[in-house]
Formats: sequence, C-alpha cells, structure tokens
Amino acid sequence: MNKFVGAHTSSSGGVYNAIKNAEAIGAKAFALFTKNQKRWEAKPLDTKTIDKFQKMLDESGILPKHILPHDSYLINLGHPEEEKLQKSRTAFIDELTRCDQLGLDRLNFHPGSHLVKLTKKQKEDVEFLTKVENECLDVIAESINIALDKTQNVKAVIENTAGQGTNLGYKFEHLAYIIDKVEDKSRVGVCIDTCHMFTSGYDIRTREAYDATWKSFGEIVGFEYLSGMHINDSKPPLGSRVDRHHSLGEGEIGLDAFRMIMNDERMDDIPLILETIDETIWAQEIELLYSFIKE
Ligand SMILES: [Zn+2]
Ligand SMILES: [Zn+2]
Repeated sequence: MNKFVGAHTSSSGGVYNAIKNAEAIGAKAFALFTKNQKRWEAKPLDTKTIDKFQKMLDESGILPKHILPHDSYLINLGHPEEEKLQKSRTAFIDELTRCDQLGLDRLNFHPGSHLVKLTKKQKEDVEFLTKVENECLDVIAESINIALDKTQNVKAVIENTAGQGTNLGYKFEHLAYIIDKVEDKSRVGVCIDTCHMFTSGYDIRTREAYDATWKSFGEIVGFEYLSGMHINDSKPPLGSRVDRHHSLGEGEIGLDAFRMIMNDERMDDIPLILETIDETIWAQEIELLYSFIKE
C-alpha cells in the first residue's frame, strides 16, 4: 500500500502538536499551519521548537514528503495593489522559510485573486475576462519566482480553487499557465482539492467522468506536478463555483470518487489530506479511505 492519508490537524499551542493530533487519528500524513493563519506577523521559530518538531516527527514515522503545510489565508500573491502585494510576498517568503526550518519540503497555497469588480457583461466576455485573469496569473508567477529565489528546498504547491469570487486557479489551464512561467520547475507543484475540482466544474463521480477529468489534468498540467491532494466531499453541486466542504459520502460527490482515488496509483506517495467539516470523525474517514484499497 502506497497511500498516505491524513487531515489538516491543529498546531495550536506549538507546531509539533499537529504531529500528535495526526497520530491520534491514525494519520500517515497531515497538513498544518506553521503560524496563526489569520495574522500577518508571527514570531520566528526558535531552535527549541524546531528540535522538538523534528524529534516528534522522527518518532511518528511520518515522512516530510507526506506533510503539506498550508500558508495563511491573508496572502494574495496576485494582489492588484502594490503595497498589499509586497506584504503578501514578504509573508509568503516567511512561510517558505518556516517550512524549510522545520525540514518540510512543500508549501500549499491558493494562487490569488484579481479583485477586479467585473460587470455581468465583462464576465461573459471571454476575451476580456481572460485578459484580466492572465494579468493576475503573471503577477502570481512573478511572486513565486521572487519567493523561490529568496528561499531554498521548499516546493511551492499551488492549489486549485472553486473559483469563488475572483479567485484564480479554478481551471487546470490556470495552474499550467503559472507553472509555465515559474523558472525553477523543480520547485513548483500542485495540490488538487476534490471539492474545489468538483465545484469548479470537473466531475469525478463516475468511472467515465473520473477518467476524463484526470486525463485532462494529465494533458494540461501533468502528473509530475501533483504534490498533494485535499480529500473533501462538497456541499454545493457540480460547477457551482462555491467552496463548501462536506464529510466524505455526505455531499454531492459521493464515495465512488474517493474509492477510485484510493486505487489510483497516480496518487501514490503524496499527502492525501482531509479538510472535511467534522473533525470528530476524521479517524473513521481515514479508516474508510484505507478500507477502499483493493489488495
Ligand atoms: Zn483545500
Ligand atoms: Zn476549500
């Protein structure tokens, strides 16, 4: 078995607590925030904390490549205003640095939002919309290049989004566009969130739909970039562009998609992270996912 399932566990009280919380639910992977995700500033990680994290990680047997830290939700690497863009870039560099200090090799983030107020007519004008979006994707790619240049070892892992509001990353083409402009391809990857995938219009509920969606992913982005997944069911329906997660089997996606993922070797050896809404059943959800694997 080569699947590494876990959840986004709490690091409240110290980053190392995420390890303890992951072990408590039988996780073989986990996600965490390395700082308070609702604040811009954080005090730097001290040696004591770093040592404790690494010692506990060693003891847990969980490998760094199965850990998918998530950056702060405040960061917008495509912000149209110079001052806020700089603030985001600085914070993103700090996030990458913290991961590196902890010995972690990847950082998951949402690409960014263009924040342009578009009229209904402009939204329907494909050419105009593409222009606005591409300009923002250019800024995002530049942000990543700057951050990679100022840091080392950690891969920038772009998450696909539901496409709510002006969030970019709701199409495989957006992910590919950014990757194309990143200079160091060895330090960029993607994280596919199943809820976001589904609500942005990619169906994975049947064998046929699942195969078609991932075929398109392979052609447009490429599986060599797949560095993690978020395993979530969805409250809103296909293509609704709304981001609301649900517990596995409770939402619009249903269990078949997750069964197919667990038996798909293209998702081997990467962190598969639950961000489902009821953390009291994470242990059961992890067990359920493992039970799907056909020997
Ligand atoms: Zn996610
Ligand atoms: Zn989400």
